[in-house]
Amino acid sequence: MIKNSLATVKQNIRDACNANKRDASEVLLLAVSKRHSVKSIREAYTCGQTHFGENYLNEALEKQQQLADLPLVWHYIGSIQSNKTRKIAENFSWVHTVDSLKIAKRLSEQRPNTLPPLNICLQINIDNEESKSGITVQKDELLALAQEISVLPNIVLRGLMCIPAPKETSEQEIQTFQQMQVLQQYLKENGIALDTLSMGMSGDLENAIACGATIVRVGTAIFGARD
Ligand SMILES: *Cc1c(COP(=O)(O)O)cnc(C)c1O
Repeated sequence: MIKNSLATVKQNIRDACNANKRDASEVLLLAVSKRHSVKSIREAYTCGQTHFGENYLNEALEKQQQLADLPLVWHYIGSIQSNKTRKIAENFSWVHTVDSLKIAKRLSEQRPNTLPPLNICLQINIDNEESKSGITVQKDELLALAQEISVLPNIVLRGLMCIPAPKETSEQEIQTFQQMQVLQQYLKENGIALDTLSMGMSGDLENAIACGATIVRVGTAIFGARD
């Protein structure tokens, strides 16, 4: 039942916050609903969940139409091709997966003036995986990019996001999340105002919270396995 799994995930978040002397209100639970039904999203909403993350644009747009009667906050967390930026800019509150100045500029230009600025995170390829999108970890280049992006008018650079490679040990997980924390700190020390670290999923959210995560993105632990 979604009600029970949602309660368990929230309890895990509270426990992780307590263990790390953090206030639970600092951590937003993003329910990742990709490949889960509109019915499941409604059920989660009935249990108080309002922030939902989707990876596939067409699937997301269809669900948004069917759920237009609910006050949901949509986050785009999938990979971004240039030809998709307009629809993303028009239909989401957050985008976690920005990885170039070009994409950021398009999102800013295409964000409708009738909407508040689009919240964005820069996706960091924290384990330097060839297969993964995201910005390669090179802190001076990252700073230069963040400086250019932070002056764009219709988007707000909120923070950094990562999808780490699977790790064998908890220590390795923590090491990776700490690298994210160090990068964010570096940007902040250099004048970029950031308040968001989007990291931690069903399997590693406790370690992410220990390292300063402010958004955890949880799918399976709430909705069960995807088909
Ligand atoms: C699917 C997905 C998640 C959720 O993963 P689970 O293991 O199901 O919790 C989180 N973030 C991103 C970017 C995803 O694509």
